[in-house]
Amino acid sequence: MLQKYFIGIDIGGTKIYGGLVTPAGEIIASHKVPTPSKAKPKEILTTTDKVIQTLLKNSLTSPKNLLGIGIAVPGIVDNNGKIVITPNIDLSNTDLKKILEKKYKTKISVGNDVNLGVLGEKWLGAGRKAKNIVGLFPGTGVGGGVIVNGNFITGSHGAAAELGHIMVDEKGPVCTCGNIGCLEAFAGRWAIERDLRAAIKKGGRSILTDLAGKDLKQIKSSTLAKALKAKDPLVTKVMTRAAIALAKACVSLNHIFDPEIFLFGGGVVEACGDLILPVIEKALKKDPFFARLSTPKVVQAKLGDDAVMLGAVAAVRQITELKSLTDTYYPLIKLTPSGKIIIKGKNVRASFFIRADGKIKESKDFIPLKLSDEELEEICKKGPDIFFVVKPRGKQVSITPKGLRFLRKKRILPRILPLSEAIKTYNNCADRKAALFYL
Ligand SMILES: [Zn+2]
Repeated sequence: MLQKYFIGIDIGGTKIYGGLVTPAGEIIASHKVPTPSKAKPKEILTTTDKVIQTLLKNSLTSPKNLLGIGIAVPGIVDNNGKIVITPNIDLSNTDLKKILEKKYKTKISVGNDVNLGVLGEKWLGAGRKAKNIVGLFPGTGVGGGVIVNGNFITGSHGAAAELGHIMVDEKGPVCTCGNIGCLEAFAGRWAIERDLRAAIKKGGRSILTDLAGKDLKQIKSSTLAKALKAKDPLVTKVMTRAAIALAKACVSLNHIFDPEIFLFGGGVVEACGDLILPVIEKALKKDPFFARLSTPKVVQAKLGDDAVMLGAVAAVRQITELKSLTDTYYPLIKLTPSGKIIIKGKNVRASFFIRADGKIKESKDFIPLKLSDEELEEICKKGPDIFFVVKPRGKQVSITPKGLRFLRKKRILPRILPLSEAIKTYNNCADRKAALFYL
């Protein structure tokens, strides 16, 4: 049977990112271009169209093999898929869905980028088992998305779940939206930068002036992470304040939605999650109302830059009439009676690992039997929940203390098993998984 694909496109303020994706969620090809600056809708459409054409061309796929195209935009989309407002790019009032339907004659869905990021994580990432998810994505601003009983809440305008603009302090700073004391005015990167600049202007000392330049024109999330690692007191103080604002919001959101998980993504959390997430966990645990119920899990997003694009695919996948929507992209591993390992019809001879995105990597270098954080970081790049290590015959495998710390921090459960048991357990495991085979 001919392989059919979906295309997902994440239209952002700075880049347009597209992927060709199988119905099981495997990314076959991807392509990224800068969003033309100050572009008119027509130009954005042409660029989006070029990304779609490039994906089809590079993977030798014809538009006839497309099951649908999912689009994510940074703004409010109404319940019919029409874009209402996109504050940072010029797509307001564009009926992108209609335009693309006409051109590609396939199913099209258009949605809000943060909502779709949460949906992507629900499909393939950190939210796989959850039906009720509150997602918060602190980047430049603070995006939000809420899934209740498996469905997004969109509200009457498509503007629900803009969680960055819930009020956490009526005496707080003014927000970009015009309100006072919004969560985003504490925990968005623009607010964090504002506080850091003000403190340094007042004479506060920080290694930031070495890391980001004296004028502190731009303070990247990765720079914040470096400063935290160096235990910079000023950055720690400001980031803790941002984390407390997020924690306050989560306590209230927990009472409204009673979710199974709070899902955190976005640049600030990716870089500084180790400081932020424990503050939130602690605040949720302290809430006496939920003392006799279980506290929701606080988890970090796993799909990185692919989350929104894959979420766009998940959205259009939901409206197609695919019979089997439960297949996975993980390869089925077979063990022959003579001890050969067969994957996708091929006999594997060298040591290899399978990442959490289903991609198989043959290891060119020798992988030591004592696994340290360095090897684990490489193998566990795509954020598995479980990491299988297949013991070679007659030898012992172990994980160094540093490696174990890495796994604990990333909340990855290691399982070291002999070959046939490992293959059986891996094949049957429905979680996000990675595996290492020594051959
Ligand atoms: Zn606001």
